[in-house]
Amino acid sequence: MLLQRLHHRVLSTRIFKSPLPPLEFPQKTTWQLIQEMDDHFHKPAVVCGVNHTTITFGELVDKVNAIATSLSERGIGKGDVVLTNSVNCIEYPLICQGVDNISTISDTTTALGAILSPAPPLFRGDELAIQMKAANAKLVITHHTVQDAAKDAIAIAPIDKNRQFCIGPSDHFESFDNLLRPKSRVGDYPIPELDLFRDVSHLPFSSGTTGPPKGVKLSFHNMTANALQSGTAEKMGSHALTVLPYYHIYAGMLLNMFLLQGVAQVTLPKFEPEIFLTALEKYKIEKAHIVPPIAAFLAKHPLVDKYDLSATKILISGAAPMGEGLQEEISKRLGCIMKQAYGMTELSPVVNYSLDGDVKTGSSGKLVFNTELRVVCPEKKRDLDVNEVGELWYRGPQAMLGYLNNDEATKSTVTDCGFVKTGDIGYIDEDHHVFIVDRLKELIKYKGHQIAPAELEDVVLSHPSVADVGCIRGYDEKNEEVPKACVVLKEGHQLTEQELMEYTNSRVAPFKKIRQVVFINAIPKSASGKILRRELQAQYK
Ligand code: AMP
Repeated sequence: MLLQRLHHRVLSTRIFKSPLPPLEFPQKTTWQLIQEMDDHFHKPAVVCGVNHTTITFGELVDKVNAIATSLSERGIGKGDVVLTNSVNCIEYPLICQGVDNISTISDTTTALGAILSPAPPLFRGDELAIQMKAANAKLVITHHTVQDAAKDAIAIAPIDKNRQFCIGPSDHFESFDNLLRPKSRVGDYPIPELDLFRDVSHLPFSSGTTGPPKGVKLSFHNMTANALQSGTAEKMGSHALTVLPYYHIYAGMLLNMFLLQGVAQVTLPKFEPEIFLTALEKYKIEKAHIVPPIAAFLAKHPLVDKYDLSATKILISGAAPMGEGLQEEISKRLGCIMKQAYGMTELSPVVNYSLDGDVKTGSSGKLVFNTELRVVCPEKKRDLDVNEVGELWYRGPQAMLGYLNNDEATKSTVTDCGFVKTGDIGYIDEDHHVFIVDRLKELIKYKGHQIAPAELEDVVLSHPSVADVGCIRGYDEKNEEVPKACVVLKEGHQLTEQELMEYTNSRVAPFKKIRQVVFINAIPKSASGKILRRELQAQYK
């Protein structure tokens, strides 16, 4: 009987494998590999896209090792979480490498093995405090432009005074520059035992398929493997642009991928049309990773015609769905290839990538190296075949270790065989191209940023006139995804859409703002009281 069942399971499991030849991954961290690239040491590694300050690979190595030494002096070691709350800047890559640093200095290997938990720079203090508490952050590095939020957060979730730093001027925090000047000899710290496959190196937060944001445990190997999986699929030019925020795993992975390719990353603190276009032109960016709203800007905005973007040959969009029309429009206007990649924080993040010379409109690309896919019917839990639409489950060296302190969420997201359930609906065609067609999970994405409906619902529900609420994906006049609240008012209460938005939006980070409101009579719920989101979504999007 058991054999029969096992036999049935094997027969009914249909696994699609990457068509690319398997890669052999080095048993080393990203930072170990970077330090071996001494033929690159004279080349630029990080460039500020605003004032053009440059850090070479050689300087990067010195600074990163100094940061790791200073962190160790402040009592940070293996497994301790360093939280960053910063816009993109040239210091960010130094911090990322410094935190989980494994170095060989004068023939001695040293390792800090701490964990980086990056937070969105636009978070309010209370939102930041939630991540600081959940991650059990031991040290915080903020940026002068967003330091007020860090100050507020630390008032809620205290951090030792000698573990609070700010990049740029601050009356409140110790200068980040002090981390570049350790008191002890650089590299003078102990080596903990590190397991590259089991120890966490990166801890971004994601709501996954359901509920509030959770810490996503990514190992040293996850991070290195995905940078190599993506980097082997995409060879960059001499310079790359990081306009996407480093806190998000898409840019977090690109940070490593660019360093490993010896490419200079030009960092921009945020998307400002003129500065972005100037950087593309000045640094002759051959290939640029963007998100759909930036693609829409490049396809439609009149300002684009004022710049010589002839060096830009390839644009790669990810983090959110992109319409086919847009893909064609942008290719026509700029004469470049517009292609897509797909992934999710829990997958470090890339699993599909469109390869040069093999781009299909609407496709998110093919399975990257060493990656497997199952397409599973959400109702019958049966594996599906080519061109059949179902939930996408992925397995590979980039699959997360699990959620932090949340076995239940881990169990419902990762199967016993190691496949991560994405909550996205799609299919794979006969040419191995994967298409994303819908989202099964409740996640709302605004310009590539994550918004967990549960978080917004808590804020809306705190309004004295609101009886019940369900938040879903709405679509604006440009067909871009926006947060939408379906609200039930208490009997006898009156409230306008504007009043509700003002109330909610002053209590959340700007990217989480509710942009559409609909008043309804009842929120559809299951017998156990759970919001029937698919129903709500289908009815009110
Ligand atoms: P995040 O964890 O913030 O990277 O969000 C992951 C989610 O973004 C995925 O599960 C998808 O819902 C969505 N997403 C990412 N890339 C794409 C893409 N190329 N096309 C459609 N949706 C995407």
